[in-house]
Amino acid sequence: MPNATPQESLDPQDWEAMRALAHRMADDVIDYLAGAGERPVWQPIPDAVSATFSAPAPSAPSDAAHVYQEFQQTIQPYPMATTHPRFWAWYMGNGTVLGAFADLWAATLNSNLGGGNHAPALVEDQVVNWMKAIVGFPAEASGLLVSGGSMANFVGLAVARNVKAGFDVRGEGMTAAPQRLTVYASLEVHSCNQKAVELLGLGSQSLRLIPVAENFTIDLSALEAALAADRAAGMRPICIIGSAGIVNTGAVDDLTALADICQREKLWFHVDGAIGAIGMLAENVRPLLAGIERADSIALDLHKWLHVPFEAGVALVRLGKDHLRTFSLTPEYLEHGTRGLAGGKVWFSDYGLQLSRHFRALKVWMTIKEHGLERLGRMMARNVEQAHYLAGLIATDPALELLAPVGLDIVCYRFNPGGLDDARLNEVNQEILIRLQEQAIAAPSSTRLRGRFCIRVAIANYRSTLADFDLLAHETGRIGREILDAR
Ligand SMILES: *Cc1c(COP(=O)(O)O)cnc(C)c1O
Repeated sequence: MPNATPQESLDPQDWEAMRALAHRMADDVIDYLAGAGERPVWQPIPDAVSATFSAPAPSAPSDAAHVYQEFQQTIQPYPMATTHPRFWAWYMGNGTVLGAFADLWAATLNSNLGGGNHAPALVEDQVVNWMKAIVGFPAEASGLLVSGGSMANFVGLAVARNVKAGFDVRGEGMTAAPQRLTVYASLEVHSCNQKAVELLGLGSQSLRLIPVAENFTIDLSALEAALAADRAAGMRPICIIGSAGIVNTGAVDDLTALADICQREKLWFHVDGAIGAIGMLAENVRPLLAGIERADSIALDLHKWLHVPFEAGVALVRLGKDHLRTFSLTPEYLEHGTRGLAGGKVWFSDYGLQLSRHFRALKVWMTIKEHGLERLGRMMARNVEQAHYLAGLIATDPALELLAPVGLDIVCYRFNPGGLDDARLNEVNQEILIRLQEQAIAAPSSTRLRGRFCIRVAIANYRSTLADFDLLAHETGRIGREILDAR
C-alpha cells in the first residue's frame, strides 16, 4: 500500500522540527550549567505556578515544543539547585555536564541493565570493577549500581543477614530465627540503615545504637560491652555497620578497630560509605578510611562527592558468591544464555532487587573518563580544605560558634553573639537559615547536635570558592544582628 498514511506512532510527526527542538534544548542545558551561579540558589514557587500542577492528565496530544515551553516556565526556574556554587544542603553533588548528556544517551539507547549481552552491561561491569579497585576490594568481589546509599546499604545488609543468620532465611523466613539477630552501629548512623533492618524483618529494636565519643565516632568500649551483654542474653549478633562519614558532622568511625572486632567476633563488617568512601580518591581523606578494604560489604554514593547526576550509588560485596546467593533467582523466562541476546557475563538482576534497570553506569563511566580519578579526587580534597577555611572564619568571628569538629567536608555552626540561652539561639539560628535561603544567599541545611540547632554546611561542591564562604560567614552575622535588632 504505497500511498497509505503512516500508522499512528509515538515518533515525532516531523523529525526536522524535533531536531530543531533538541538543538534548542541542548543549548539551553549548556546555558543553564554554564550560568549555574547566576540564578538564585533557591526561590519560592509562586502560587500561580504551583497551581498548574493540579491539572489532570491531558487526553489529547500537544506539540513537543509547547510541552518544552511549559517546562521552561513552570519547572526549570524552581529546581533544587544542587548545581549552584553555594548549595551546601544535606549532602549532594553538583552533577556533571557530560553526565547530563550521558543520561540523554542512556535514555536514547533505552537498554535494560537487568542482564543480557550488550555493551551497556559491560560498562556497568567495568564501573563496578573500578569501584572495587578504588576501595581495595579483591577481584572476586561483586557489585551493582543502585539508586544511592539507601539501596546500597539495603543490599549489603541483606547479604549480611543471609550469610550470618545461621539458617536458611530465603527458604524459611525470619519466623524460623531461634534467636534475635542483632546489628550494631553508632547513634549517628544514617536512618536508611534502620529502614533496611526493619524491611529485612529484623526489627528496629535489633539495631543496637551505640553511643558516640566526643568526636562523634562510635564508642568502641560501649560497642564491646553491648556485644557481650547481647550474647549473654541469648541474642545472635550478626553485623557491625561502620560509618565512613556520618551525615551530621562527617566524622569517620575507626574502621580498623571495627574490622578487628568483626574478625574476632565473626561478624559481618558493613561500611556505610555514602559520604566518605569515594574519598579514597582524595589524598587528605584516604588515611582516615584505613580499614575500609577489610569490610565484607560497602555502600558508596556517586551522586554525592563524585558529582554524577542523580541517581547513582554502588553496593559492593567482598565475596561475589555471598551476594549472588542472596539475590539470584532465575525463572525460565529469564534463562541466561551463552550466545545471543540472553548471553552476557553478568546479569545484574542476580545481585539486587530490581529486574529492569536504568543504564546509570554511562554517566559514571563518562564522568570518570572525562575527568580522571586524580582530578575528581582533587575536587574532594579542596572541599575538605574549604571546610577548614570556613571553620577558621567561624573561630575568628566572636559572633559565630563552631558546634562540632569538622569531619571531612561538613561544618556545623551557629550565630552566637553571647548573652542568649540555647532555646533563644535555636530560634534565631532557625530564622537565619531560612533567610539565607529566602534571600538566595546560600543553601545550607540544618541539624541538631546535643540539642543545639546547627547551620550545617556540607561542601560537596566543585563550584564553591573561598569567597563563597566569606559571604556565608558575613551574611550569617548580618542576618543574626538584623533579627536581634528587630526585637
Ligand atoms: C545520603 C546518605 C545515605 C543515603 O543515601 P541516598 O543516596 O540518599 O539514598 C546513607 N548514608 C549516609 C551516611 C548518607 O549521607
